[in-house]
Amino acid sequence: MGDLTTEQVQSLKRKLLKKGAEINEKLVGLMNGLDPRVDWPPSKPGETKIERLRRFLNLVDGEIQRIRAGTYGVCATCGKPLPFVQLDEVPWIDTCQACAAAATSG
Ligand SMILES: [Zn+2]
Repeated sequence: MGDLTTEQVQSLKRKLLKKGAEINEKLVGLMNGLDPRVDWPPSKPGETKIERLRRFLNLVDGEIQRIRAGTYGVCATCGKPLPFVQLDEVPWIDTCQACAAAATSG
């Protein structure tokens, strides 16, 4: 499980659960005709807000499952441990900065 302590993992898990609840709330709002602000994830062409939020929710759920499976906190591409400071900011990231940069530059 990367380089994280049990306390760090618990704190990140709480953040992920909270974020998941937030996304759910927005989804329910959207389905009830409200228009909540959605600033993450970046939209893909032709994607609706509901599709974006579902994508985000899948990501958050996936990370919670990785915590349960004991594979959380490492880069999904190269397997390097992800730094806590980075996870603390964005607990649902699953690739290190080097791999993310490589993926966006092609
Ligand atoms: Zn990596």
